[in-house]
Amino acid sequence: MQDTADDLRLRGKKIGFVPTMGYLHEGHLSLVDEARKRSDIVIMSVYVNPTQFGRGEDLDKYPRDISRDEKKAAERGVDYLFVPTDKEMYPEEHLSFVELDNVSHVLEGEFRPTHFKGVATIVAKLFNIVKPHVAVFGQKDAQQAFIIRKMARDLNFDVEIVVAPIVREEDGLALSSRNVYLSPEERNQATVLFRSLKLAESMVAGGETALSKVRSGMIQLISSESDGKMDYISFVDPACFGKIEETGSLTEVLALVAVRFGRTRLIDNMLLRVRDET
Ligand code: AMP
Repeated sequence: MQDTADDLRLRGKKIGFVPTMGYLHEGHLSLVDEARKRSDIVIMSVYVNPTQFGRGEDLDKYPRDISRDEKKAAERGVDYLFVPTDKEMYPEEHLSFVELDNVSHVLEGEFRPTHFKGVATIVAKLFNIVKPHVAVFGQKDAQQAFIIRKMARDLNFDVEIVVAPIVREEDGLALSSRNVYLSPEERNQATVLFRSLKLAESMVAGGETALSKVRSGMIQLISSESDGKMDYISFVDPACFGKIEETGSLTEVLALVAVRFGRTRLIDNMLLRVRDET
């Protein structure tokens, strides 16, 4: 018989949780390290949640390889891998959903209108099943991490939310399960996301306060060096995720980009330090 989350809690174990959709890479595994630092038991879930995919998105072709994931998770020290089926997660018609106002409908939410409803709902369900003390998410999905933290606070989930840094390839491309969709040519061009964010970082650090000018520089770079189609290049106040066009009194600005290469949609972001003029 396996321990339940309640058994572990009764024995005074601190539970760390890493939710994923699998096809594990070093980005996911870095979250395991963060969870390990903060807990006695690390539980990872692998579940490709259908409710966070819109119609026409890549639910069916999303990469899956559970035996490879089991091996990688065990090697990294995951104690329990939770791999539920759709029937277990959504056994009957689901009428209850978690939805956040405002922040769910901007940026990613504009292009994927039902995405964050699915994400917040599945994470809430997983929290209730796994009963973690601490849950670790990646800054790679900055808006998602913000939404989960806000949901946990708004709905009084007794879970500490930790956000871990983005893990990148040597050439700057953020690791993502979806990178396997890229052709070699697209893979080469995809580094332009990181390079555009580095350009933004240097412009803002150099004193540029008009973010429309920073966006223009990024658009120029992306369109001259790739065939990528930009869904958005946006800047937000990281404290509230409100869109901004001027650095104003902020000390940090979060730049976010979403670019499509063929049928593959990539997102990336970077926290930009604003030059202190005082
Ligand atoms: P996913 O399997 O894509 O749903 O991702 C599961 C978790 O891993 C999320 O919290 C992601 O933000 C995080 N993650 C994915 N890619 C990276 C990365 N390159 N660096 C850090 N965290 C990541």
